[in-house]
Formats: sequence, structure tokens, C-alpha cells
Amino acid sequence: MLKLIAKAKEHHVLSKEELISLLKTDEYNNAIFKAADEVRKKYVGNEVHLRGLIEFTNICKRNCMYCGLRRDNKNLKRYRLSEEEIVDFAAKAVNYGYRTIVLQGGEDDYYTTQKMTSIVSKIKSLGAALTLSLGEKNFEEYKAFKEAGADRYLIRIETTDKGLYEKMDPGMSHEERKRCLSDLRNLGYEVGSGILVGLPGQTVESYAEDILFFKEIDADMIGIGPFIPNDDTPLKGAKAGDFNMALKVMALTRLLLPDINIPATTAMESLNKNGRILALQSGANVVMPNVTEGEYRKLYALYPGKICTGDTPVHCRGCITSKILNIGRTVSSQKGFRGNRDFPKFND
Ligand code: SAH
Ligand code: SF4
Repeated sequence: MLKLIAKAKEHHVLSKEELISLLKTDEYNNAIFKAADEVRKKYVGNEVHLRGLIEFTNICKRNCMYCGLRRDNKNLKRYRLSEEEIVDFAAKAVNYGYRTIVLQGGEDDYYTTQKMTSIVSKIKSLGAALTLSLGEKNFEEYKAFKEAGADRYLIRIETTDKGLYEKMDPGMSHEERKRCLSDLRNLGYEVGSGILVGLPGQTVESYAEDILFFKEIDADMIGIGPFIPNDDTPLKGAKAGDFNMALKVMALTRLLLPDINIPATTAMESLNKNGRILALQSGANVVMPNVTEGEYRKLYALYPGKICTGDTPVHCRGCITSKILNIGRTVSSQKGFRGNRDFPKFND
């Protein structure tokens, strides 16, 4: 096993069987985390990129079994931010020092292509990089957002197990999800994807395939989050994902895709109070603090126990910065594109 870890650290390849053997036992977890930390340091350095996250609508036409924003959840007070509010939160985030803004929301058709492109171009005029995470759209819509200035797009494959995906996301198709990833790539976005860890019925074989899929599509960013059961969903009685398994899938992803951006996800911190720091020490190099203000934070209830819902954006920025400095890392002042595309000549 130690030889396998050394091979992955050196050559960034592992077969499906090798991944499964590492996923199956917990005995080598610390060695995997340490190797991933070293690979992170070698390829993407000690800087941590902060992305300011705006959760702009909790209205969703989809019905994902795990998610509190699903349309059948009648226990949630719904909201959508106006264009002015979104741009205002983005402008404040840029003032706090964020170099990337992430706009995330449910699939809410209120935000037409016209409304979204207007928001995108206003945020881009603030000088930050912009990531969108609005779910499945067609090629023309993705193209319009790109032309308006969006740089990156996050859309998790959630699981590469097609049967499980289609059971968990009723009415959605795995082919369509992959079509989105391929359109985004063809349009020149930096493409982010990722999975949930610990869905009922998910297996280590499936995680191995997930990691190989990330490599196959050459993802620029991968977010791995443990599944957290939500009482307002059909999965309310299910077991939560295992924190260490999520951390290990993330660390193995770093070993195989050495130069990508990997966030220490909010869901990790919601399961373990030191979760984001442990993730930053096991391969992650990005954190996405919430810059949404007021009661909206509580209402963006994907899962229970979401951290920092009572805090302000200023507090979050200070809190995460001191945690990062405490472990000997620094906060980047760059936009944090994958690879060396941050040269001021091209991006500033
Ligand atoms: N609607 C968009 C973006 C918002 S959902 C989309 O689905 O792509 C963002 C992510 O939240 C999803 O990709 C999913 O992986 C995660 N999520 C949803 N419910 C969750 C839960 N119960 N536990 C952990 N993560 C969850
Ligand atoms: Fe909607 Fe995304 Fe939640 Fe699915 S995961 S219900 S698409 S917000």
C-alpha cells in the first residue's frame, strides 16, 4: 500500500483496483493525507484561494432527494435576491479582498438568460473572476454567460454511478449532466465538478470511478462533500457520509490531479468542527466563505448544521484568514486560475 501511495505521489496514476484497495482500508489514511498535502504544496503552493460565495436563490425546480432546496420541500421559506442585492454583495466582497465571486443557486427560471448576463457583466466590471453554479443549462445559455464574462462553472456530477444518480435526482439524466460538463469545456470555461460522499448505496468502487472520471474530463476544480441528511427530504432517515472517507476521496483526487483547485468544502466543516483545516492539510487549496448577508444564509438550507449561518461576511473573512495563517499558509491575492494562468499580463 505504501508503494502505491508513493507511486501516486510521484506519477499521479492509479488503476481502479489500486484506488479501491486504498479506499477499502483506513490503515493508510494518514499516509494518503500526508502525500496529498505534499503534492498540493509542490504543485499549487502554500497559498489558499478564497472565493466569496453568494447564495442568490433557494428556489429550485429540481427535486434531488438529498437537497433541502428541492421543489417538494414545503418547509422552507423561499427567497431570491434582486440584481441590485447580488451586485451589492459582490461589490462588498471585492472590497473585503475577494478576487473571485461565486454565484450559486437552485435552478430558478426567474433568472432568465437576459437577467443573468446583466448580473454577470456587472460583477465582472468589479474586476473579480466570476464562477457560476446554477445547474443544468443548454449550450446557448452557457455561451451567453461566457460571453458576458463568466470565467468558471461548477456543476458536480454528484456520483458517476448512473443508476444511483438517476435514483437520487429524479427526472434528471446522467448523460445530460455529462453534456453540461462537455459544453462548458468546449466553451472555454474553467470546469469544476465533484461528488457527494456517503449517499445511500454509494460504494468504494464507485468513488474509484468518480476519481478516474475527474481525471478523464481533466476537471479544473473538484469539490468533494460528505452527504448530510436533511429532515425535510426523503433521505431524512439516512446515515450521514463519513468525514474520513470524504477526506480520503479528496486526498486521492489531489494525488491524481496534482495541479487543480480543490476546495475545503463547507459540508466538511459542518460534519467536523475542524473540517476545513483538516481538508487544507490533506490536499485542498481553496475555501469558499459565504458573503451572502442577513437571513438568506439560514434559508439556503441544503443540509442541516451548515456553519456560520449567523455570521457576517466580514467576520467570516477574518475567521478563515486567521485559521489559514495559523497553519502556516497564506491567503492568495491572485484570482487563482488553474495552473499559471494568473500572470498579471493576461488576467489583471
Ligand atoms: N443547483 C445547483 C447548485 C446548488 S446545489 C446544482 O445542483 O448544481 C450545490 C451542491 O450542494 C450540490 O451539487 C450537492 O452536491 C450539494 N448538496 C445538496 N444537498 C446536500 C446534502 N444534503 N449534503 C451535502 N451536500 C449537499
Ligand atoms: Fe436544486 Fe441543486 Fe438542490 Fe438539486 S442539488 S434540488 S438542483 S439546488
